[in-house]
Amino acid sequence: MSDSDRFSIEHVRQERLKPLLDRTVKGYGGIAHPRGWDTIVLELHAKLVAIYPEYQILQTKEKFGALRFYVRDMVGNGFAFIEETEERSKKTCENCGKPGKLRDDGHWLTTLCDDCQEDREKARR
Ligand SMILES: [Zn+2]
Repeated sequence: MSDSDRFSIEHVRQERLKPLLDRTVKGYGGIAHPRGWDTIVLELHAKLVAIYPEYQILQTKEKFGALRFYVRDMVGNGFAFIEETEERSKKTCENCGKPGKLRDDGHWLTTLCDDCQEDREKARR
């Protein structure tokens, strides 16, 4: 993959995540979850924004192989949607978005599908 390909993939992702980036509060962690979770994060955002049009995102990230999604100006039911999506992330490959499971390599917890896990093992050999 050339640098320009890599740039355009990143650019497409930025465009796709624009609704999230537009409501990120400056000075916090920003949008930092792995790309395999983009779809479930955007689905969560669609649900939240329908109920809380003013809600803001402090940070999205991966921790212990699962999504963390931190927000502001939201109450009640919104947190149930967030929790549901954090649970989904534990079964969704963080690299490609296919069904995955939690992997423990002794140092790091990651949620990967079988293919991405195999690629990772190959890369390590
Ligand atoms: Zn994968």
